Amino acid sequence: MIDTHCHIDNPAFDHDRQAVIQRAKEAGVNRLVVPGVSLDNFTSLPCEKDIKIHQALGLHPMFLDKHPQDAIEQLVKWIDRIKPIAIGEIGLDFREPHHNHNKQQELFSAQLQLAKLYQLPVLIHAVKAHDQIITTLKKADLPCGGIIHSFNGSLQQGQQYITMGFCLGFGGVVTHDRAKKIRTVAAKLPDSSLVLESDAPDLPPAGFAGKRNEPGYLTIVANTLASLRGVSTQHIIDATSMNAVNLLGIAND
Ligand SMILES: [Zn+2]
Repeated sequence: MIDTHCHIDNPAFDHDRQAVIQRAKEAGVNRLVVPGVSLDNFTSLPCEKDIKIHQALGLHPMFLDKHPQDAIEQLVKWIDRIKPIAIGEIGLDFREPHHNHNKQQELFSAQLQLAKLYQLPVLIHAVKAHDQIITTLKKADLPCGGIIHSFNGSLQQGQQYITMGFCLGFGGVVTHDRAKKIRTVAAKLPDSSLVLESDAPDLPPAGFAGKRNEPGYLTIVANTLASLRGVSTQHIIDATSMNAVNLLGIAND
């Protein structure tokens, strides 16, 4: 399994990171994609021999206050140095009405231009902003698509993303019985659009509410998608791994 969105560098894992990675490996996770969120977390990636860890670099919309004036220039230098597999995590978060929406949009658009320039896919944080993100992506016309992380939109919005070369990330949220809307959507999307993600340490699956999430719990997400879609868990694992490999240009060994 490939965890396409995991903040394993988060301080929540400082005391037992190796054990968490070991459990992920035992659960069948062979690769982790770790998105960047702000300039100060770009160097904090752990070295790991058991699981392949891939780094993405981006400036997260929820950390606007942390990004300096020249954040984009600095990001460019980091991209040149680290050669990330994707630009992310970037996007729009409109949970708070009128909270720096223009500034978020400016930052998002600037980073989409970098994805174009460097021919990289993007990892997108999309909260209460799907329509604006879809409009922005249509204009940006990206060469390599990307992943809508923790997808929570409608079937129609999902299809619009798919048309633009995107995959949709599913994680802990879909495992909760009460998440009726997204469970219905997850049952209907094509196999070729699905990828798995933990978003650890956030968004734990059913049975772990209020606890720290970890990539080893990805099996629960795969099981849920399998039962919602009436296929085997192995089918979900194979399809999602292949989609992640194709989209992110990584191997699956
Ligand atoms: Zn994230």
